[in-house]
Amino acid sequence: MSVRNHDTPGEVDVAIIGGGLVGMSLAYGLLRRGKTVTVFDEGDQALRASRGNFGLVWVQGKGDTCPDYARLSRLSARLWPALAASLQQDTGIDIELRQQGGLYVCLEQDTLQQRAEMLTRMQQDADGDYPFEVLNAGQAREKEPALGPDIAGATWSPMDGHLNPLLLFRALHQAFELHGGNLINDQPVTRILPQPGAGFEVQLNGTRLRAAKVVLAAGLGNKALAPQLGLHAPVEPNRGQVLITERLKPFISYPTGHVRQTGEGTVQLGDSKEDVGLDTGTTAEEIGKIAARAIRMYPILEKVRLIRAWGALRVMTPDGYPIYQQSAQYPGAYVVTCHSGVTLGAVHTGPLVDWLLGKDTEISLEAFSANRFPL
Ligand SMILES: Cc1cc2nc3c(=O)[nH]c(=O)nc-3n(C[C@H](O)[C@H](O)[C@H](O)COP(=O)(O)OP(=O)(O)OC[C@H]3O[C@@H](n4cnc5c(N)ncnc54)[C@H](O)[C@@H]3O)c2cc1C
Repeated sequence: MSVRNHDTPGEVDVAIIGGGLVGMSLAYGLLRRGKTVTVFDEGDQALRASRGNFGLVWVQGKGDTCPDYARLSRLSARLWPALAASLQQDTGIDIELRQQGGLYVCLEQDTLQQRAEMLTRMQQDADGDYPFEVLNAGQAREKEPALGPDIAGATWSPMDGHLNPLLLFRALHQAFELHGGNLINDQPVTRILPQPGAGFEVQLNGTRLRAAKVVLAAGLGNKALAPQLGLHAPVEPNRGQVLITERLKPFISYPTGHVRQTGEGTVQLGDSKEDVGLDTGTTAEEIGKIAARAIRMYPILEKVRLIRAWGALRVMTPDGYPIYQQSAQYPGAYVVTCHSGVTLGAVHTGPLVDWLLGKDTEISLEAFSANRFPL
């Protein structure tokens, strides 16, 4: 990743706090619309979901209790091919986007039944615009022969896919630099001062930068920053442990919620959901559970070597849905946070940027106000 540190004060259209996937996606969209952008990032020691995630561009089941979120996920999946093409054109980086559908493999009949009912409800909420199939074990193995005898079945959606999240992150940073973005990446922003009628001043260690608009896209850091701008971001960490195997010949055609084969041949196995504060470590217990589940799904994995495991922190709101909000007290200040920053990346570079710029968008964001959470 290429990084530039600027110490000089200045003035830009938009200051973005946070250089993870969310902040960099917004920045890319803004730069492509001709805006000047500075991104402030805490640096390599920071907690970054963007470097530890599973890489799914996933639709099935997302937003089961929030049709607006389900719509947003579908829209983003549809916008992804254009974003991947644009990043490749700008940087030459192929982010390995594959959207040929995805399976959610169920090990128990009850789980399969519950998922079938959930997806049927979601299809009704989406006026039918929600293709999926429920596959029994035999049908699932026909689609994916590597699945083992010990599965109950799977749900299938042609809307799902995956990509290489590290290549995406690199492409976003490279495109940011190519389009003239300015990155200050060595310390956390602690103070943002609204300037009456004149935007905002971001302060850090003697450096001051004026911006007409400021966007909080600092992941878990949003919680502490938001109150300075009359905003509310009640996000909490949730740890996911992920394992990766040695490289294998391609044998998995479709990503699932728990297992996917990467473009390089490694198989990524995920992931736990743990409430352990800011601990990014790994545990033998969770690694064992993740591996055992993956082996039940794909027995061939029993003979395969794991080469790495890591923990990373999800950025979770109390209901799991995003917060997209402009400050009522300080118009021009926004908070943007979500726990599916890969899936929603294409919405973030497109329609969400239109919203930040006060233009009409094809999406309704009212459901994502933080006013739904008590102060
Ligand atoms: C195990 C795991 C699996 C996942 N799998 C998927 C998946 O398959 N598909 C999907 O769509 N999503 C997935 N996600 C979620 C996805 O990774 C996140 O939604 C996304 O990375 C969030 O990006 P972010 O930019 O909001 O946060 P982060 O990546 O955490 O970045 C926040 C940035 O803000 C900076 N920052 C924080 N505070 C400050 C401050 N005060 N000043 C300056 N900078 C600051 C930090 O330096 C950091 O770089 C997964 C997450 C995890 C943990």
